[in-house]
Amino acid sequence: MTPRAFVDEEAAADARAAILRARRMVGFTGAGISTESGVPDFRSPGSPWMTHKPIPFDVWLASEEARAEAWRRKFAMDDIYAGAQPSRGHRAMASLISRDMMQAIVTQNIDGLHQAGGAPADRVIELHGNGTYAKCLSCGFRHELADVRRQLETSHRAPVCEACGGMVKSATISFGQAMPVEAMQRADALARDCDLFLVAGSSLVVFPAATLPVIAKRSGATLIIINREETELDDIADIVVRGDIGEALGPLTN
Ligand code: NAD
Repeated sequence: MTPRAFVDEEAAADARAAILRARRMVGFTGAGISTESGVPDFRSPGSPWMTHKPIPFDVWLASEEARAEAWRRKFAMDDIYAGAQPSRGHRAMASLISRDMMQAIVTQNIDGLHQAGGAPADRVIELHGNGTYAKCLSCGFRHELADVRRQLETSHRAPVCEACGGMVKSATISFGQAMPVEAMQRADALARDCDLFLVAGSSLVVFPAATLPVIAKRSGATLIIINREETELDDIADIVVRGDIGEALGPLTN
């Protein structure tokens, strides 16, 4: 059941005022910005991610059966949030970018909803990849999910690359898989150079992504955290907004 929307309106007003004053703002998002879109987050109670648990990269690499199972779980999750539309949070951040008030969005999400909400792809830095397509791990060839699904459902085996015979994987970063170097470097540079780092919808427990708010704060930025629950970094934030991202950021959409 979706919890009723709420927000600490006083803190949200402070956050919006700081956002409107910022010159070099960076957004940082986690699964919580997509729950309003119908995409479940990872750690909230009853999350379907627990019944369709992501398979760690070493297990995935080690067995064909694990790869086939990973694809079955991915498609089961995709069916849960098929047709998801951008949330008020996605739209607000896209609007801040279009007004040149936000430099970029660094996201842990893999759902592509920032881009669907109007943020230009080159301003969205995906730390954990993108789950809306697949890639061959050997030659890098892009595979569309509909083709992968057809192969899986016909052969009941993990799909392989038609071009080179390599292993085909969703274009996401699994637990235990190396982080994308360029995305991490861009995110790190943005965190060091921004004057406001706006975290929305992350429990801030997944590393190394969760080091970025700390880097931004140590580099002199104002740190704002908007989240329904406490996060690991509330103690170092300048403004903590307890509540729904849509309620807090929605009024910023132009
Ligand atoms: P998380 O599930 O650990 O934390 C999400 C946080 O958002 C929770 O603390 C929750 O209370 C809060 N939240 C949920 N809905 C909210 C709302 N409407 N307003 C305000 N707060 C809200 O997610 P995480 O920190 O992003 O880490 C989970 C990992 O799993 C990430 O690596 C991410 O890549 C992946 N993941 C991605 C998606 C996605 O792409 N949408 C979904 C689930 C998990």
